Amino acid sequence: MRESRKKRQERAAEVVRRLAKEWPDARCSLHYKTPHQLLVATILSAQCTDERVNQVCKPLFRKYRSPRAFASVEAPELAVDIHSCGYHNQKARSIVGMSRAVLELHGGQVPRTMEELVKLPGVGRKTANCILGEVFGVPSMVIDTHMIRIMNLLGFGKTRDAVKLERELMDLFEPAEWVRLTHRVIEHGRAVCIARRPACARCVLADLCPSAGKTA
Ligand code: SF4
Repeated sequence: MRESRKKRQERAAEVVRRLAKEWPDARCSLHYKTPHQLLVATILSAQCTDERVNQVCKPLFRKYRSPRAFASVEAPELAVDIHSCGYHNQKARSIVGMSRAVLELHGGQVPRTMEELVKLPGVGRKTANCILGEVFGVPSMVIDTHMIRIMNLLGFGKTRDAVKLERELMDLFEPAEWVRLTHRVIEHGRAVCIARRPACARCVLADLCPSAGKTA
């Protein structure tokens, strides 16, 4: 039977409550001190673990201390420093290009709007949402692989298209919850609702999830 909008909203609110109880301290696991450093770390985190990115960023942020320092290096030189994050040539080009744009177009300050952020080289909607939510406190959802997988399993989205899913979820969840919900879903995806082997038997969402026990 098709779930009514009201029932769906009630189920979504209960999912928010349970994940908040399960993962009260979930937050961005990338280490940074400035908005620009978070942009660099987020670009590096594509197809790479946050743990590896943090390892790489520690010496990187000591070597390049400002957007100007990142803008002054040539991409092939930076690629050597970020080699272990994978896709190093492409990521180096993005970081240098992004840093030059931040410097030349925004006076060295990371812009605060989605429209301006996605114009920076290497910055897509996912990275922009991460910066907006994490640094500037703007309600936003980072639609990563965990969010796509788990929200589809929960029946809150019926698409793997990140932009469409973001729109569907924004309609379902309260804006005040978007940032924390993203972090909690990511934690849940790493520890419980693991890709290809979700641990439904120990999932606090099992009685709310139409996919419980059906994914093996
Ligand atoms: S019940 Fe299973 S499929 Fe549903 S969210 Fe929990 S772990 Fe994932």
